Amino acid sequence: MTTTTQLGVLGHGVESGSAAERNCATSRVGGVPAWLDLGELPSPASLQCGVCQRPMALLAQVYTPEEAPDCFHRLVYVFCCKSGACYQHPDKWYAVFFFFLNAGHLI
Ligand SMILES: [Zn+2]
Repeated sequence: MTTTTQLGVLGHGVESGSAAERNCATSRVGGVPAWLDLGELPSPASLQCGVCQRPMALLAQVYTPEEAPDCFHRLVYVFCCKSGACYQHPDKWYAVFFFFLNAGHLI
């Protein structure tokens, strides 16, 4: 059985320093994370590769709003190590997600 899953649609790029880049509701591949909650950032140590200890890069930021009324906004951030030496090691990945309960505070 074959299934087809669409993860997204390629859109236009996000310019560095633009409002779209700072908008956490902009899903993207690569770039700089736009954090949903600046008071709850991951620690610098958690964003280091578990193999080589270098800082990981943002692989993707995905805005995936929750439809439940008490949990309106949700963002998933996936980081990975860019070193080829760490390839296929599970400690080169880090994912974190945030919920925001009040839509009025977004951005
Ligand atoms: Zn690494």
